[in-house]
Amino acid sequence: VLPVLAVVGRPNVGKSTLVNRIIGRREAVVEDKPGVTRDRVSYQAEWAGRQFTLVDTGGWETDVAGIDASVAKQAEIAIDLADAVLFVVDATVGPTATDEHVVKLLRRSKKPIVLCANKVDGPRAEADAATLWSLGLGEPHAVSALHGRGTGDLLDAAMAKL
Ligand code: GDP
Ligand code: MG
Repeated sequence: VLPVLAVVGRPNVGKSTLVNRIIGRREAVVEDKPGVTRDRVSYQAEWAGRQFTLVDTGGWETDVAGIDASVAKQAEIAIDLADAVLFVVDATVGPTATDEHVVKLLRRSKKPIVLCANKVDGPRAEADAATLWSLGLGEPHAVSALHGRGTGDLLDAAMAKL
């Protein structure tokens, strides 16, 4: 059985784009609109010679109403099955109330967490990523899932916790 890395975060932060980047394919469905139903959630991935299962929690439908409750429920399911959590935040938006809520759930779980500051497409957005230190999860790993920037360092950090 492979270790499980679960990708958690609000809709539209770039979870599926990051998953596509990591698996090197275009299978995870990327949608511009939040809350769009997606079916494929689980992928076999490899980094630095290690195999693991990558789970895109945004692909789960939940029976709860509203984005906040839905993201919280997805985080709870992810925590249950994950060996480590890759928490994705949109650095261009900064930490939202929903992000803070998910952080509480993640911290309570005591699962290892790697913080991904996504949408850092260029050097000017580095400062945006730095604001995510306030989440109290340690270093925000600046990444552009769209362009591939920083994903190697992010995966190194994830493997160290998996
Ligand atoms: P998800 O809902 O968290 O799975 O987010 P998606 O992967 O579907 O991405 C939502 C939107 O953000 C899409 O329009 C993506 O192209 C865009 N996006 C994802 N990653 C990046 C990034 O690193 N930089 C920029 N500029 N846009 C991104
Ligand atoms: Mg998605």
